[in-house]
Amino acid sequence: MSAESSRSNPPLQATLPISFLIIGGGIAGLACALALRRVGHHVLVLEREDRASARGGSGVRLPPNLSKILFHWGLRDILTSKSSITKRLIFMRYETGEMLGEHIWDVDMLKETRGLFMMLAHSELYDILYEAAIERGARVRYNANVVELDALEATVVLETGEELSADVLVGADGEHGLCRPAVVGENAPGDLTGLALFDTVVPSREVPAYAERITEWHGQFAAFGSGHAIVAYPIHGAEDIAFQFYAPDGGQEGKYGDKPSVDVPSIVDGINPEYGNALPSPNSQCSLTYAVAKFARKAVRVSIRQHRDLDDWVHDDGRLVLIGEAAHPFPPSTIQGTAMAVEDGAVLAKLFSHISEPRQIESFLYAFQELRQERVKAVRQGELGSVLYMTADGEMAAARDAGMRAKAAAGKNVLEGDGDAESIWEEYRVVFGYDCEDEADDWWVQWGMLRERAREREAEGAPPLLDFAAMMAKVEVSSTHDGEEAY
Ligand SMILES: Cc1cc2nc3c(=O)[nH]c(=O)nc-3n(C[C@H](O)[C@H](O)[C@H](O)COP(=O)(O)OP(=O)(O)OC[C@H]3O[C@@H](n4cnc5c(N)ncnc54)[C@H](O)[C@@H]3O)c2cc1C
Repeated sequence: MSAESSRSNPPLQATLPISFLIIGGGIAGLACALALRRVGHHVLVLEREDRASARGGSGVRLPPNLSKILFHWGLRDILTSKSSITKRLIFMRYETGEMLGEHIWDVDMLKETRGLFMMLAHSELYDILYEAAIERGARVRYNANVVELDALEATVVLETGEELSADVLVGADGEHGLCRPAVVGENAPGDLTGLALFDTVVPSREVPAYAERITEWHGQFAAFGSGHAIVAYPIHGAEDIAFQFYAPDGGQEGKYGDKPSVDVPSIVDGINPEYGNALPSPNSQCSLTYAVAKFARKAVRVSIRQHRDLDDWVHDDGRLVLIGEAAHPFPPSTIQGTAMAVEDGAVLAKLFSHISEPRQIESFLYAFQELRQERVKAVRQGELGSVLYMTADGEMAAARDAGMRAKAAAGKNVLEGDGDAESIWEEYRVVFGYDCEDEADDWWVQWGMLRERAREREAEGAPPLLDFAAMMAKVEVSSTHDGEEAY
């Protein structure tokens, strides 16, 4: 088998197929629909927009912990045909274009993760998930705006007055949807941070010298400035360059799905004019910011909000569970937001592949919450930290830049630590190496099966299993690391 995971064996089919209504047909909703269909459940996705409007025009990054799931689901070939693959990261100063250093992906580390770091357009990822979900038998209804829901009865009402019901409601309607407040019991919009992401695209033909460098280097670029940062990478092959700007929000709010309305030059401030006016050429380090200001299409403004971690992702009445941005809004366009949304669907489906009786629904929903909350909390903190790291000012920025310059001068990868577990690269290794489907399998073997056996014993009138520790020692934890399905 190749280094990266490519499992696509038929997964375990649930002995009791049940019905799921997924509210929201974004990336989380579609990935969840596909995953649930793979294990035999009935799925209807309700999306309030039409299909074209539910897709984004800019880029999305798939870290190895995400790409490996899609490889498991048999999407490796289609993903590879649409994506560019990151081989290195290049770091610059935003104001001057000074090169701070680079980090070349460690091939051995990537092998360990069994995934790849891929970059493509949001719309392309969307279409891949949509086509795969439909092919598997999921139903997706567009222009289906859910305006009411009842978690106890597991019913929803559409804007048209139509009422629909299922065994389980999945809230995949994002940061601003109606499922999040339904579970939290109040509106929890989060606090504005004063920063926004301005998400846009620059056609490569407008900046040929720069595009050549991106293609040749297989790179992602990051430019750090005071209160500003840019992340740039190729999409649509290398026809376009996704430009994602972090900058002050200018006192206005916005979100994905809004019309691109922001003129990029109006937000590119703080650049040394001497560098900002230079022409892009292979030798001009400032071509990155120049290209943005001059040739970028209008950008979508996405406010960056600070949210607290929710205690509950499952409604008290038991039949509504939150996934994706509805459960855990990430700062926009960071590496892991999309990955966590897809991991959620993968884990939910793995758990529900074991359902044989309706009484298990609630315990599987709580198991999902238990499995996902810790992982997402740690990853979300890291991603918030990344935005602060990139846009830092003063002493913190000076220390960051000096560290990078020193490592680059010594010929080292700039994210590498000095053998300390705290380095950014060590954090990446852990986050990328995680296999959420294996974690869900392990939960079933360690806890789910045990609970089922305890119930059976009780039903037979046998004494309850008190010695859990001894039981646990006997449980053989299966692993799928050799490329075999665990079922
Ligand atoms: C239109 C759009 C474009 C985007 N473009 C990009 C991009 O270019 N790059 C990037 O990195 N990220 C983009 N994102 C964000 C990205 O999809 C998320 O950050 C994450 O990857 C997945 O989030 P999600 O599916 O949980 O939530 P979201 O992406 O927010 O999707 C939620 C979905 O639920 C639907 N919905 C909300 N309320 C209702 C309701 N009452 N009834 C029915 N449906 C409802 C919304 O229309 C939306 O399609 C975009 C999001 C959207 C919605």
